[in-house]
Amino acid sequence: MLTVKDLTNVKGKKVIVRVDFNVPLKNGEIRDDNRIVAALPTIKNLLEKGARVILLSHLGKIKHKLSEEEIAAAKAKNNLLPVSLRLAELLNQPVTFVPVTRGEELDEAVAKLNDGDVLLVQNTRYVKGEEKNDPELSAAWAKLADAYVMDAFGSAHRAHASTYGIPSILKEQGKPVALGFLVEKEVLALTRCVKVSDEDRPYIAILGGLKVSDKIKVIESLLKKCDKILIGGAMAFTFLKALGKETGQSPVEDDQLDYARNCLAAANGRIVLPVDSVIANSFDNPTDIKIVSVDEIPADYQGLDIGPKTRELFAEEISKAKMVFWNGPAGVFENPAFQAGTLAICEALAKLSGKAFTVCGGGDSAAAIKQFGYAKDFAHVSTGGGASLEMIENDGHLPGIDVLG
Ligand code: ADP
Ligand code: MG
Repeated sequence: MLTVKDLTNVKGKKVIVRVDFNVPLKNGEIRDDNRIVAALPTIKNLLEKGARVILLSHLGKIKHKLSEEEIAAAKAKNNLLPVSLRLAELLNQPVTFVPVTRGEELDEAVAKLNDGDVLLVQNTRYVKGEEKNDPELSAAWAKLADAYVMDAFGSAHRAHASTYGIPSILKEQGKPVALGFLVEKEVLALTRCVKVSDEDRPYIAILGGLKVSDKIKVIESLLKKCDKILIGGAMAFTFLKALGKETGQSPVEDDQLDYARNCLAAANGRIVLPVDSVIANSFDNPTDIKIVSVDEIPADYQGLDIGPKTRELFAEEISKAKMVFWNGPAGVFENPAFQAGTLAICEALAKLSGKAFTVCGGGDSAAAIKQFGYAKDFAHVSTGGGASLEMIENDGHLPGIDVLG
């Protein structure tokens, strides 16, 4: 696969870059410009080489089945204009913003681009054909460009017009398609977690978060590859119940008990479950919080974090790892009373910094790591919640990446 560095001959060429400018907006104000900042290296690299850069991104959700008024409201809310202004500040150069997604206005703006100029097209989801990977829309966009760069990892698991349609057309026409710097880093890290080499063993997965049912394919994939799987979070209670334990009011998925039993059998001792739990009398209003063994959860209590013995047990296992993939918080980290488990995992992984390859995937897990200030201690914290998990599930394959190969 080519990367943006391989595109050496782009002076005067029109290059579409699919970026992820899906930033949090409130009343038209950008609350966190991380995603814009993260795209700068790829954009600057192309501009420095004299390319004419055409940026495409989605922003938020626009449901085209709703009424015209509702669609208009969603469009107003998810307008990329403020992003173009922030981008111009960050690049320290003008950014042409095209307020529509296709048609004459866009064609003319593209025709006016000089070498080293950059243009941002309105939110790709303004058009219905984007999420449907509409061939006609893909062709209209592909026609604008001489090359394509994918730098939106968070959208790489979707085969949309801007992530799949355009590059497949350009590739057919023999035009170069490449990975941007951000996506390249994601692909290298996550591929390493599924194509495991001996020097990366022991390889440990840490799983947590809410639902077993959301993560079935992730668990299955990791079971095949990992030497140990540590399970915390709400998910652990389905496994504990599958072993016949009383889990009280803890969030158990009864329809996944057989699945959990099968996993435990297939794992042959490689799954490590919590031995104690921080429990409370209520999720919303926990007035009584205590620590108990997982054999002693009272009927009217629920487990909201792993307990101190489990924190130690997990830390001990983690200390032996050469590679770790982590998805899913160990507890309800949003509440300080139930943060200790997730914090302990952060700390244990930070101790491996420089000694082991540590990767985190998943939206809430990455948010927890950032919130606790540990992002710098990881080899890689994925920017794509869903995409990172799908990459693990599918043995390193995603439609928006494979199409570039
Ligand atoms: P990710 O986005 O990293 O894949 P998930 O979405 O699966 O993670 O799960 C994250 C959520 O799981 C968090 O909001 C957290 O509060 C919740 N959670 C973790 N442990 C528990 C628990 N014991 N009971 C209830 N919710 C939990
Ligand atoms: Mg989540």
